[in-house]
Amino acid sequence: MPEPPLFIEQISSLPPGDVGLAVLGQPIVHSLSPEMHNAALLELSRRESKFSRWKYHKIEIAPEHLAQALPRLAELGFRGLNLTIPHKVDVLSILEDIDPRALVMGAVNTLLWKNGSWKGYNTDGEGLSRAVKIAFGKGLNDFNVLILGAGGAARAAAAQCLAEGCQNLAVLNRSADRAQKMIESLRENGFSKRIELMDRPRNPFPGIKGKSLIINATSLGLQMDDPTPLDLSLFEKSVCIYDMIYNPPMTKLTSQAKEYHMPYSNGLGMLVGQAVRSLEIWTGQKVSEDAMTNAVSSF
Ligand code: NDP
Repeated sequence: MPEPPLFIEQISSLPPGDVGLAVLGQPIVHSLSPEMHNAALLELSRRESKFSRWKYHKIEIAPEHLAQALPRLAELGFRGLNLTIPHKVDVLSILEDIDPRALVMGAVNTLLWKNGSWKGYNTDGEGLSRAVKIAFGKGLNDFNVLILGAGGAARAAAAQCLAEGCQNLAVLNRSADRAQKMIESLRENGFSKRIELMDRPRNPFPGIKGKSLIINATSLGLQMDDPTPLDLSLFEKSVCIYDMIYNPPMTKLTSQAKEYHMPYSNGLGMLVGQAVRSLEIWTGQKVSEDAMTNAVSSF
């Protein structure tokens, strides 16, 4: 495989007066973030003309180039960055200033150039929270939650559920030891609620009052021939299903939810929600979801 181009070969300068925003990742070619952010920036520019000079790019950066790319991008005029696979965790060791919420989540997906250095944030949890409210009309605090997975996205979801005061919380992951570590680390970060670690697929909700929500934060479903991460026949029809995967738009999990007439949603709302929050951090402006949603709705 040929070496990916160095970031400097992709963007060597910005037009004078432009403010750069970008998503960094590898691979990055399929990212929908430029479409979402540039649509929202166009809307912002109608309110305040300076935003017509803000442009969002996508830049392929290999993990070994991230540390040198960050100061160089600042020199070039970039003021806000999103990070995606594989940079979200590795960047923690590079940054000096990290928002406490991102520290708890153990991952950073948003960087703001502030007082001469990059400050790290994580907006995935807030994105999930907004998306769940829109999809099911209730906040995370209203739900008994079962999280599938124990990677970066699961951890952001768990920290957000706990921060918002969800009802009961259970976690199921293929590697139980990884889920155990995730739970221990959340406790070390001050969350005292009891979290049930499930060692096998089963229904943790019987006898528990209130609405229930299952969040798929595993990568099972990204490939069309992946099996479902959980058999929904174990659950009541009122249980809500949030699958973080948005490409493909339907997975085996959401297809089964549809078949059983369970409320369900794919992860597009979360993608939009985290993007809205990132743009709010960079611009200091209230950002409307509509422009971003429209930009990806045909997807
Ligand atoms: P990680 O690689 O950090 O975690 C992957 C998780 O999936 C782990 O819990 C892993 O279990 C589990 N998993 C992987 N393969 C299998 C398998 N064959 N069987 C069972 N479990 C498996 O990824 P992320 O946490 O970053 O992302 C997880 C998902 O969330 C992805 O699909 C990603 O696209 C999505 N996502 C969506 C976002 C959105 O905005 N909608 C934002 C962020 C993520 P184990 O620990 O055993 O390896």
